[in-house]
Amino acid sequence: MKNRLDLLEQLQEIDSQVDVMKTAQNNLQEDMNGIAGTLAEARYGLAVLQSRAAQLEKEKGELEAGHAAELENIKRSETNMKEIKTNKEYQAVGREIAAARKQVTELEEQVLQKITQLDDLNSEITASLTTLAELEQNSEQHRSEKQLEIDKVQQNVDADSLRRDAITKELPASLVKRYDNLRSQRRGQALAIARDGFCQGCNMNLPPQLYNSLFKADDIITCPHCQRVLILKYQQAQ
Ligand SMILES: [Zn+2]
Repeated sequence: MKNRLDLLEQLQEIDSQVDVMKTAQNNLQEDMNGIAGTLAEARYGLAVLQSRAAQLEKEKGELEAGHAAELENIKRSETNMKEIKTNKEYQAVGREIAAARKQVTELEEQVLQKITQLDDLNSEITASLTTLAELEQNSEQHRSEKQLEIDKVQQNVDADSLRRDAITKELPASLVKRYDNLRSQRRGQALAIARDGFCQGCNMNLPPQLYNSLFKADDIITCPHCQRVLILKYQQAQ
């Protein structure tokens, strides 16, 4: 039975290693997700700026069309003026022209405002494009580095999986099942070291008779408190 305990110990060692490697892989994957997230955010930010610029262009175009229409109105009113007979009519058209000129001035100011806003926004877009290009380049590099690490870890996981298969073939299926269940119930640790009358898995005192029977090492003995399979480790004699 000593052999079974040795094999279980090897199994536990492999499984603990694989747990650590899987955690490392998950962390690497999270890093990759973070990189992708940052990139998506930067792309979204650029798209927002670009759509704001398109909106400003549209508004500027509308103001310019309004400006052209007012100029046309003024020209028409000035032509009409030549055919006016009465002073009253003349004054009315004059007021219309004055109002239209005021409108033209206002529209010109508004167009200028839009041009200033567009200039600022376009500088922002240019900067954002540069940042994004750098980010894309860095992300690609980081992403492939992380992927390489993930693949490297996976090779070790696969190698351990083969070693594990070889060990479990030598153990009774019922014992492997018991071990697997224990591992899932006991946060990955199916075995516990017994030393100085204690179970180091749960730090509880072991009944002396049970502890003594461990020295015979001829059976699989579990801790009565945490149910882990006990492995006896002697205190090194000084
Ligand atoms: Zn225990």
